[in-house]
Amino acid sequence: MSQQHQDLIDRDRKVTFHASSHLRDFAHGDAPGRVITGGQGITIRDKDGREFIDGFAGLYCVNIGYGRTEVAEAIYQQALELSYYHTYVGHSNEPQIALSEKIIDLAGPGMSKVYYGLGGSDANETQLKIVRYYNNVRGLPRKKKVISRLRGYHGSGLATGSLTGLKAFHDQFDLPFEGILHTEAPYYYHRAAEQEGMTEREFSAHCAQKLEEMILAEGPETVAAFIGEPVLGTGGIVPPPEGYWAAIQAVLAKYDVLLIADEVVCGFGRIGADFGSHHYAIQPDLITVAKGLTSAYQPLSGVIVGDRVWQVLEQGTGQYGPIGHGWTYSGHALGCAAALANLEIIEREKLTENARDTGAYLQRAMADAFGDHPIVGDVRGVGMLAALEFSADPEKRAHFDPALKVGPRIAAAALDENLIARAMPQGDILGFAPPLIATRDQVDEIVARARRAVDRVTDALV
Ligand code: PLP
Repeated sequence: MSQQHQDLIDRDRKVTFHASSHLRDFAHGDAPGRVITGGQGITIRDKDGREFIDGFAGLYCVNIGYGRTEVAEAIYQQALELSYYHTYVGHSNEPQIALSEKIIDLAGPGMSKVYYGLGGSDANETQLKIVRYYNNVRGLPRKKKVISRLRGYHGSGLATGSLTGLKAFHDQFDLPFEGILHTEAPYYYHRAAEQEGMTEREFSAHCAQKLEEMILAEGPETVAAFIGEPVLGTGGIVPPPEGYWAAIQAVLAKYDVLLIADEVVCGFGRIGADFGSHHYAIQPDLITVAKGLTSAYQPLSGVIVGDRVWQVLEQGTGQYGPIGHGWTYSGHALGCAAALANLEIIEREKLTENARDTGAYLQRAMADAFGDHPIVGDVRGVGMLAALEFSADPEKRAHFDPALKVGPRIAAAALDENLIARAMPQGDILGFAPPLIATRDQVDEIVARARRAVDRVTDALV
């Protein structure tokens, strides 16, 4: 590493609190750092000019790839005209109007309005407020509990971190908040290990039954909403078992429970459809979007409100006056301009179709390379989302001793191959979510580098 790069990292260690990091080790020089200075296509570059294939598109967000000057230009032109004016009390800006039209059009029938935020966490915070307001207006003040899923990921604020079903986001923060519950994860690979012989469909029915039992135990009059990602993301990149969403939706409908689809990862093409909800025939009342909305060229998120909820929100303001909800930067003109340019690229370059087709190729390539690998227990994914789950004994689906840190070691070995893949936070799982522009050749390269990394760690383990 060059002295210049090292100096930058040393300065950083003194003053920056990094997300999801080992704070002590980083501050004291015991954990590595890296300064990223640029990117092009599916590749990023650090201060020394070392290039990495970004097999995770940042945090599954840079869907159109790096270095798209067209988006930079759109942001610049908008900044020259108007960077910002608030969107309270009916004020708007032109990109916001055009973007809302576009999102409603993409989201499909039944969707009515978009409320903007800056990231997935704040958008889910908005969802929780909407759900409470909705049932207060309907005269159901006890109907407030929200059911999420173990291994779900919905943000890291106090309320949204409560929705998240991962231990690290709860422990030492006194979470989850009361009134936020977690039901079984739709994680067939693990469950099947415990209950041999259960088909995917049976497992889906089992998940729906668990949900129903929870609703009944709590009292349906106290349960307001269910939130889920179409495909579990940060919890392990787990596509739902067959029949899962149909079974879950039947239970929700029976007890008048709203469905929030958290499309922060799946939205805008990642799994080969405009929304994960379209792919799995989910009919949500509310949708959360972020990441792929702007491909991270600007921070922007959205809450898409369906008709059924919107009618009640209108009724509420008729009763109580203007809604007490708003962020200073809601509908930020630069974010909306970036989103429009990004969505235009996705459409023009048919990136959603590419995510479907090249995504299918990625799934096959992963299965070919790792299907029989001695430490790979599961190869799974959909579209441009894929994961390898490592196992000490794939036959028995046995976990490795967590102290071996197999997942992080393989991610580190991949980095040595100049490939970024993400060690998912719970379990020995390596995640892949390349930019949607990836070609078959690039997929081959990602898989080849991953294979070398996995083999190297395998050799060290035996
Ligand atoms: N929802 C999902 C499904 C996510 O994957 C994430 C982030 O990874 C969030 C919400 C939170 O988004 P943010 O980190 O922008 O607050």
